[in-house]
Amino acid sequence: MARVVLATHNAHKVEEFQAIVAAVRPDLEVVGYDGPEPVEDGVTFAANALIKARAAAAHTGLPALADDSGIAVDVLGGSPGVFSAYWAGHKKDSTANLELLLDQLSDVADPHRTAQFVSVIALVTPDGREDTVEGRWPGRLATAPGGTGGFGYDPIFVPEGQTPGEERTVGQWSAEEKNAESHRARAFRHLVPLLRQL
Ligand code: IMP
Repeated sequence: MARVVLATHNAHKVEEFQAIVAAVRPDLEVVGYDGPEPVEDGVTFAANALIKARAAAAHTGLPALADDSGIAVDVLGGSPGVFSAYWAGHKKDSTANLELLLDQLSDVADPHRTAQFVSVIALVTPDGREDTVEGRWPGRLATAPGGTGGFGYDPIFVPEGQTPGEERTVGQWSAEEKNAESHRARAFRHLVPLLRQL
């Protein structure tokens, strides 16, 4: 069976990618990556996704996928962006990260609290072909955390398109609801034609 390596040590992400890949290329097995981790010193999601995918392709000799993601707040000019994981410092404390973001926006009224979750997936083949696809999930920042589901900024992100008066944060969504709508799901959709060509 042909294989594609996913540049992550996160088994949950491997499963998530395997499910989408299986839907379009049942002959393609997604395998995890246990090689050296490169320094992610890119300043865009695409640059960091490419750094990770290139390292995995070079180390394994297989086509490699990698994703990089974060939250981009409009009034902050797209920040935290690539700094999402360590917005409140390199200890990578997700509660501290979202509390800092809420504090920074404490005087910002609802119409100006727009933000997007962003995911970029890179596909790099050993012969040097490089592609990236992007998914954006628009919404607004809540004024206080809600819910305990998901991870990272989920408790303060209210996706667009919900019934007025019944809006919930992603922290209050089920995993199934999130997986159908998320920035990663949207990026995955753009990846499908590239997987078909592989
Ligand atoms: P990474 O792409 O796994 O390195 O994620 C970068 C950071 O972006 C995470 O640590 C989270 O803070 C944030 N992030 C990315 N995707 C999500 C999501 O689906 N929900 C909440 N936070 C996210």
